[in-house]
Amino acid sequence: MIVIEHCAVATVDGAGTEYADGHIVVSGDRIVAVGPGAYAGDTGGVTRVDGTGCLATPGLVNTHHHLYQWATRGRAQQEILFGWLTELYPIWARLDAGIVHAAASAGLAQLALSGCTTSTDHHYVFPRQGGDLLAAEIDAATAVGLRFHPCRGSMDLSVKDGGLPPDSVVEDTDAALAATKEAIDRFHDPSPGAMVRIAVAPCSPFSVTPRLMREAAGLARAEGVRLHTHLAETVEEEAYCREVHNCTPVEYAESLGWLGGDVWLAHAVHLDASAIAKLGASGTGVAHCPSSNGRLGAGIAPVRDLLDARVPVGLGVDGAASQEAGQLGSELRQALYSARLRGGPAALTARESLALGTIGGARCLGRDDELGSLEPGKLADIALWSLDGLGHAGIEDPVAALVFGPPAPLRLLLVGGRAVVQDGVMSTVDEPALAAALSRAARSLREAR
Ligand SMILES: [Zn+2]
Repeated sequence: MIVIEHCAVATVDGAGTEYADGHIVVSGDRIVAVGPGAYAGDTGGVTRVDGTGCLATPGLVNTHHHLYQWATRGRAQQEILFGWLTELYPIWARLDAGIVHAAASAGLAQLALSGCTTSTDHHYVFPRQGGDLLAAEIDAATAVGLRFHPCRGSMDLSVKDGGLPPDSVVEDTDAALAATKEAIDRFHDPSPGAMVRIAVAPCSPFSVTPRLMREAAGLARAEGVRLHTHLAETVEEEAYCREVHNCTPVEYAESLGWLGGDVWLAHAVHLDASAIAKLGASGTGVAHCPSSNGRLGAGIAPVRDLLDARVPVGLGVDGAASQEAGQLGSELRQALYSARLRGGPAALTARESLALGTIGGARCLGRDDELGSLEPGKLADIALWSLDGLGHAGIEDPVAALVFGPPAPLRLLLVGGRAVVQDGVMSTVDEPALAAALSRAARSLREAR
């Protein structure tokens, strides 16, 4: 058992319960008690963590990423999405399992250091000679110690068929579907407390055929796994959908069976009132990626309107080639700023931002019964943020300190009751070794021809 005490606690439960001074009790991989004051139970055999000066929150849930992009950061710095992709696709065609392992290890460690306990990854580039890329990133997640939902992505619409990507990075439609089924068979764990779950994730309207979208949805529903894709990210994507399909991106998704409570969409920036209503009525989730949207100048998602329409909204860092920082904790602040740049200071509160990063993300992944709040019976995925240093000391409200303040260091990060970060340092992997491996991977892509 682990007892965390003498800390502020923001449970993010349905009632918004908080304690200025409280405790959390963990047994095995589950939370067994949360309450005010110090722990008063039996202390025999209990590891006690003094959380003085700290705030405990649920571990953050990252709902959108492309971990392989850690090996291609800092490129196409002034491009919009389509120009950025066009510059990067040929480089990504040279990915292999070693590069993906190095990139995923670095990216997942950076997520852990910023308070993330569960991450998705959307991997959609599978070069023919690249090796077992999904296994490489799952190995990385196991070593880092994060809960992991890799999405088996795919692309089958290249330039010659009217899409954006070159032939070198797309797959045959049937081969992509077969590989997706194989990924579910090999890696998906439907059991409670699972550390690895697979989702089905064709990439985007301009890189995937309608047939692959439809059949992927059928496959996911037959297998009982979730569906993820990019949608409504840029004005150029909307123009593409109107020209090719004579409808908006959300209408296109609807026509393919891609709205529903088992679907979450990355970005959802360019939405009209009808699209927002469709997402709300169908329970389709949204992975909001404010820093990436800023980096690519894509626009500001209508998060206030989505929340008012009861759309499940989570936060995503997005791939590190369009969001070089790759931290999730700082997205709490970015989400709040983006919402307020669009809708004024009442558009999002600090607590709503924290809810996006925790329970909102858990809803997108279909795991709000196990993740996203600090409640007895839920998994012990807990972030204990140090708020007594120079960056946060004296800020009246600990939740405001976390969201408005600079990225907070972690006293402790637990995933299923296991310490992944302690006193701001990874306990599971060696950070300098990961950084060195990442540099080698990035260099090998730069030098390969
Ligand atoms: Zn993305």
